[in-house]
Amino acid sequence: MIQLFVPLNFLGFVYREIKQALANMARMFALLDEPARIVDKPQAQDLPAGPATVLFDNIHFAYRDGREVLHGVELSIPAGHTVAVVGSSGAGKSTLARLLFRFYDPTHGAIRINGEPLSAYRQQSLRANIGVVPQDTVLFNDTIAYNIAYGKPGASAEEIQQAAKLAHLAGFIEQLPDGLNTQVGERGLKLSGGEKQRIAIARTILKNPGMLIFDEATASLDSVSERAILNALKDVAQSRTTLVIAHRLSTVIDADEIVVLEDGRIVERGRHSALLALGGRYAELWNLQKPAD
Ligand code: ATP
Repeated sequence: MIQLFVPLNFLGFVYREIKQALANMARMFALLDEPARIVDKPQAQDLPAGPATVLFDNIHFAYRDGREVLHGVELSIPAGHTVAVVGSSGAGKSTLARLLFRFYDPTHGAIRINGEPLSAYRQQSLRANIGVVPQDTVLFNDTIAYNIAYGKPGASAEEIQQAAKLAHLAGFIEQLPDGLNTQVGERGLKLSGGEKQRIAIARTILKNPGMLIFDEATASLDSVSERAILNALKDVAQSRTTLVIAHRLSTVIDADEIVVLEDGRIVERGRHSALLALGGRYAELWNLQKPAD
């Protein structure tokens, strides 16, 4: 009997591992929306690595239900700059990010990278050049080191350590008895939303993409966590073309340009102080979110 028990027990373990891996995949796809249905053109080229200029050129877009959700969005992110998109829920912020990642093609207009439409590039090379820091990061049931190294399979211990440092995780990791080898996920240490996002930033640092999409978490973070995220984002965005989908306006203060999207249209754009002085929609959003004095 015992001879049977051991292999069955092992099979149970393997089954749980496989189930977990599938659950992670399912969550990952939900997170990244639907899998691509777009086919590369035969003459498509590889997008060269490095920061690129991104232009949303008169973008109109409808999902499969045919209702247009973006109505002629015009938005340029010069190489290495950061543009933040703000606006109420359903305005179309995430849709812009999905189009840049080419999960869908616009119904009219084109997204251009270095002047060429996305369709000129192989999707694999486009996605290899875009780092996504999602709202809700999927962690594998493994060590912190493994979860960071996911950004670059085969990364050395030094590279992982350096990425953790740049993502402002070093202080947090130092306090853990097993440091980078601490188990996280469902069967390990539970991390806060802010800590998980910084792991995603560390992954992105290892991936070293020229472009970055940062989807800010909607859940409120404590002020220490929020500051750590902001500092990590500032560092990682410095030399990259960055699109920030912002929910809390504290994230956007330093952006090169802030774009206010309402019902799929840009209604205001500029830097934080100019938009505040304008006294329009941005100022209204800011006053709604401003912490009480
Ligand atoms: P939030 O701040 O709540 O994340 P958002 O500004 O990112 O909102 P989007 O998610 O881009 O808004 O949605 C824009 C519009 O597109 C909304 O009206 C939404 O209902 C619709 N939409 C989003 N995803 C789909 C989809 N897969 N199919 C059909 N409509 C969708």
